[in-house]
Amino acid sequence: MPNEKKRIVIVGGGFGGLFTALDLAGAGEVTLISDEDHFLFAPMLYEYLSGEVEEWHIAPRYKELLDEDISLVQDKVANIDLQSRLVRFENAREALSYDVLVIAVGGVTNFAGVAGAAEFSLPFRKIAHADALRQRMVEALDAVPPDLPPQDVRSALTFAIVGAGASGAELSTKMADLLRDAFERRALRGEPRILLLEMGDKVVPGMGQEIRTFVESALQESRVELHTLTKVLRVTENSVTVEHNGTQTEIKTAAVVWTGGVQMNPVIQSLQTEKTERGLLLVEPTLQLLDHENVFALGDIAFFPDATPTLAGTAQLALQEARLAARNVKSFISGEELHTKHFEELGEAVSLGTERAAVLAGGKVFGGPLARQARFAMYTARLPTWHHRLRVGASWFLGGTPPRPLLPLGIQR
Ligand SMILES: Cc1cc2nc3c(=O)[nH]c(=O)nc-3n(C[C@H](O)[C@H](O)[C@H](O)COP(=O)(O)OP(=O)(O)OC[C@H]3O[C@@H](n4cnc5c(N)ncnc54)[C@H](O)[C@@H]3O)c2cc1C
Repeated sequence: MPNEKKRIVIVGGGFGGLFTALDLAGAGEVTLISDEDHFLFAPMLYEYLSGEVEEWHIAPRYKELLDEDISLVQDKVANIDLQSRLVRFENAREALSYDVLVIAVGGVTNFAGVAGAAEFSLPFRKIAHADALRQRMVEALDAVPPDLPPQDVRSALTFAIVGAGASGAELSTKMADLLRDAFERRALRGEPRILLLEMGDKVVPGMGQEIRTFVESALQESRVELHTLTKVLRVTENSVTVEHNGTQTEIKTAAVVWTGGVQMNPVIQSLQTEKTERGLLLVEPTLQLLDHENVFALGDIAFFPDATPTLAGTAQLALQEARLAARNVKSFISGEELHTKHFEELGEAVSLGTERAAVLAGGKVFGGPLARQARFAMYTARLPTWHHRLRVGASWFLGGTPPRPLLPLGIQR
């Protein structure tokens, strides 16, 4: 490719797309497309729910992050035409043509075809989802009169979380701590009921036993009811029906939150190229599509052959791949040899309620309040720009980060 200003289009402004764009500033006519106006540091969405972090900490606007030589298009991509080299949008916006394309649209919630799940359960992947869940918790609390008997309170304040992966474990402990605090403040009788429903036989199946032990004891301390080998059959506006050992039970709920899995983004589903059985894009070790050398794919939608298997579907893989993608886009444009890289696990961290976390770093697992601070530090270092890292670091470590209580509607601060 002659070394003139090439049109580099990046679809998706998450861990894969944004970090690739930042590294490519000035390498051509760079355009970042996202259907949101902000990046989201999803691993801290639980802390946003609890108010331990502010929206600007974890969801900075692209405008604040991007250099002026990166153009931003805020719109939803409908499909990509690899033959004509065009990106088409869902609305009437004119299609965008590219010389080099980077695809990083991430996944979408997988409701697994469960009846009523898409309609009635709350997903938990975006700022708007966390806002909706927080509002649902406050509304449910507000509807409980102070003199209601404990068994009725428990029934009115039953929340079910579907899927006991890291997301389900983190969310359920966070919700339990928030709700318990609200019980004390509002002098309610009894306690809330938090159900964590898992089809498999264990919590956090993708993690090692050592960190699982921390998670299990945190669930117990937060009084989250873990139900393994339990299949969700149906969700309605106010109930969830489950099956365990062949017995079906319908449970009244104030909300059902779905953290049960990720499926392919529709943009990827409609793409005519080579994929794995699960529909992930097959890429070369250089992150190029097998049949289109000018197209790179990364993050949750790509199957990268040379990564530690536990990294699949993680922010840390998307982040590491972004560095390689940007480097290879530059090499591709200048006609140099492209690079490959082996991606390793950088450590794991799970937040476990508002007081503690568990962190796996340097082969060692530790937990408690110190781990919570270590997790904040680890994540601050991975925020998109130096400026943002400094502002957030100062705010977290100098100002403190107490949770925001679930106060009644009307007196929310
Ligand atoms: C609640 C939660 C907690 C998580 N916690 C962790 C954790 O602790 N550690 C970890 O390693 N990973 C964690 N993950 C997973 C991690 O966030 C993902 O693996 C990572 O974000 C993948 O990066 P990506 O760039 O592929 O996709 P994303 O970061 O999801 O970015 C995709 C981007 O594309 C945009 N987009 C999507 N469709 C379109 C379209 N049609 N048109 C235009 N734009 C579009 C989206 O708005 C988004 O900006 C968590 C995920 C969630 C949801």
